[in-house]
Amino acid sequence: MRQSTLFTKTRKNAPADETSKNAEYLIRAGYIYKEMSGVYTILPLGLKVVQKISNIIRNEMNAVGGVEMQSTTLQSKEVWDKTRWSDDVVENWFKTKLKNDTEIGLAFTHEEPMTAMMKNFIHSYKDLPVYPYDVRTIFRNEMRAKSGIMRGREFFWKALYSFSKNKVEHDEFYEKITQAYKNIFNHVGLGDKTYFTFASGGTFSKYSHEFQTVCNAGEDLIYLNEEKCIAVNKEVYNDEVLKDLDLNKSDLKEVNAVEVGNIFSLGYKFSEPLELNYKNAEGVEEFVFMGSYGIGITRLMGTIVEVLADGKGIVWPESVAPFKVHLVLLGEDVEVKNKAEDLYNNLIAKNVEVLFDDRVGLSAGEKFADADLLGMPWRLVVSKRSLEAGGFEIKARNDEAGRIVTENELMSLIS
Ligand code: ATP
Ligand code: MG
Repeated sequence: MRQSTLFTKTRKNAPADETSKNAEYLIRAGYIYKEMSGVYTILPLGLKVVQKISNIIRNEMNAVGGVEMQSTTLQSKEVWDKTRWSDDVVENWFKTKLKNDTEIGLAFTHEEPMTAMMKNFIHSYKDLPVYPYDVRTIFRNEMRAKSGIMRGREFFWKALYSFSKNKVEHDEFYEKITQAYKNIFNHVGLGDKTYFTFASGGTFSKYSHEFQTVCNAGEDLIYLNEEKCIAVNKEVYNDEVLKDLDLNKSDLKEVNAVEVGNIFSLGYKFSEPLELNYKNAEGVEEFVFMGSYGIGITRLMGTIVEVLADGKGIVWPESVAPFKVHLVLLGEDVEVKNKAEDLYNNLIAKNVEVLFDDRVGLSAGEKFADADLLGMPWRLVVSKRSLEAGGFEIKARNDEAGRIVTENELMSLIS
């Protein structure tokens, strides 16, 4: 993509009321635009990141048998009446009314609608297990929205719902999806900072599990055992959990963390009130055993920025960067410009994702500052000086200095 075609521009300052590092950098670099507190437009560069993260998640969900669908944004009160419609149960639900005064909710989560819908498709043990999932926008009337895209009032998530014959079948899947989650957080560059964390359960399991990324800006407190690679959320931290997990207080470190994902065993919590059952192999009716599994996609994007950025800007891991290479043309010399154009086309022909800074009238310093702020993994400079030195200057985002490579060397390095 040519930077000259991108309508977004970098800015020196984020809005004055923006206090979080992730939103500050993402706004300044032109990845997101702040509509209001907790509500952000995803701009072209930001959308590329969201799509990359989403696709990494999709691959892992599909590998464990997930099938993608798209639930509705408008939610029927009727479906939720027996479970969570009351404001005493859910306090942060955006609700509205149809013209005829029928109350409805805006997509807040989808356990109940999924369960109600599945009554049409699940009848026999032969119909189980199934794992539908959504990648979509969720609305929540959050009290606090001070963490940028890590806590939005409108945000993007993946949610998978599991429908199993019984607890044994459910537990097998639970283990598989736990591994899938670990693969996802490794792939997006947060593997060494993200911990499998014990959190509050429900009626059907003593604990649920969260994936918590250690991060100063995180809103949660966890007690971390680095050696065993597990943590306990403060909400369930007591002598009992220490005994259950065979942990010693003295081996635990209290740290701030952000919940990037969670997995729940729901059991019959929703299948019983909504009467989702099936005939087992003996012809006896049983309730379906359920689970739900979320990942905050925009929260994950914000967390990557918080954890990996430096003083100059964002540092994207290659797996989620909007472009692998930021090709920077310096000066207005025709010969240099033609070289840069050729290189741009050659890289595209090799399927390398390139952002081409072909803008005119900017100094080298301004272009370099923008490249650092935007955070692509590789910066590639074409200038009179680089051509005289024998080629192009390549520099990894995290390196201090670059080096000159020929086009052949570059191609084998990049592709
Ligand atoms: P939190 O305790 O942080 O409010 P939650 O328990 O409400 O999270 P769930 O309802 O289980 O979270 O949602 C699943 C995932 O969606 C969370 O693990 C988190 O990654 C993400 N998420 C939840 N609320 C938000 C939000 N307001 N903005 C961005 N992501 C969110
Ligand atoms: Mg919440």
